[in-house]
Amino acid sequence: MLNFPIYLDNHATTPMDPRVLDVMLPYFKESFGNAASRNHSFGWVAEEAVEKARKQLAGLIGATSKEIVFTSGATESNNLALKGVAEMYAQKGNHIITAATEHKAVLDTCKRLEKHGSRVTYLPVQTNGLVDLDMLRDAITDKTILVSIMYGNNEIGVVQSIAEIGSICRERGVLFHTDGVQAVGKIPVNVNTDNIDLMSFTAHKMYGPKGVGALYVRRKNPRVQLTAQMDGGGHERGMRSGTLNVPGIAGFGKAAELCQQLLPEEMLAHGALRDRLKEKLMAELDETYINGTMDSRLPHNLNISFAYVEGESLLMGINDIAVSSGSACTSATLEPSYVLKALGAGDDLAHSSIRFGIGRFTTQEEVDYTAGKVIEVVRKLRELSPLYEMVKEGIDLSKVQWAAH
Ligand SMILES: *Cc1c(COP(=O)(O)O)cnc(C)c1O
Repeated sequence: MLNFPIYLDNHATTPMDPRVLDVMLPYFKESFGNAASRNHSFGWVAEEAVEKARKQLAGLIGATSKEIVFTSGATESNNLALKGVAEMYAQKGNHIITAATEHKAVLDTCKRLEKHGSRVTYLPVQTNGLVDLDMLRDAITDKTILVSIMYGNNEIGVVQSIAEIGSICRERGVLFHTDGVQAVGKIPVNVNTDNIDLMSFTAHKMYGPKGVGALYVRRKNPRVQLTAQMDGGGHERGMRSGTLNVPGIAGFGKAAELCQQLLPEEMLAHGALRDRLKEKLMAELDETYINGTMDSRLPHNLNISFAYVEGESLLMGINDIAVSSGSACTSATLEPSYVLKALGAGDDLAHSSIRFGIGRFTTQEEVDYTAGKVIEVVRKLRELSPLYEMVKEGIDLSKVQWAAH
């Protein structure tokens, strides 16, 4: 039995696992204490829940509890990492290196830092979506204090060579931050073998609640220091003031524990469903292109451009399936995705792309329905496309002299 609409947008957010909700509920009710209250059992119970979650998160990424700083989500974690390092290490240098395909929470933070005197290098990516490591090496200068390159991309699922990037940074004495939102809980991530100094992640992309995230901050070899971006009670070892979201944090911890337990089987299962979807679409539709390399990719991600089809019409045609398109994904504007453009995709292909995100609750039946529906709608739209018809007649569109428009 299929339930509609079908949810295949697990990069935007994931549904909460019911086991996570069960762990959270008592902290909304009888166990409502403030984790910073030291004088009574309400506070102790809350603090115990927070410390348990800290251990669960640390366990998932190979860190220690003291290296976990709770935040309101990965947007805040990225802001704290970049701004906190820029301010703390201002004496050492003012140069930051990032990539063109980062999430807006990194790119816009860099834009802000540029207004305050930082110099930022935005590395281009190769057509496969990967950063060129030689280019990264060449970009590092005496003034470089931080490299921020995401682990897995939220649009095209490409997984960067994180351990190598980390080792390049370490050799040169530069801190390495990664936005780990899409990777943590989905593929093995270990801050030690991956040479990571700072890492952002968030509960609602791993079957936990919205509004709670974390920043991993390395304590040893090297010890990373941050300037707090919020003034107040000095919570989280002075790095992030504010009363902790105890129910959210307890849920985040449970979500991490579940991801750690399920990761090996989920990687295989989600990868198999993704490949099934990909193979059906590619077998039935021509002029269809996969964005980003398949060789280094999150198992649950598929991003495909259907040439000669307008993305918005395609989305409308499959409106019983929740997915994202390569346009309009950041705002109400119909800008083609800057991530796809960074891979060298033309506006047309960027506009005609769909991101599919498999999740914990996705079934094979849903994948098969989706494949069938997409194939049907793409064929229908192409029947109406004069361009597609010309291509099928063997006309080279690049040689056509178009009338002025
Ligand atoms: C969703 C997402 C974020 C933002 O996380 P929030 O917790 O929603 O603030 C940051 N980076 C990436 C890669 C994301 O996918």
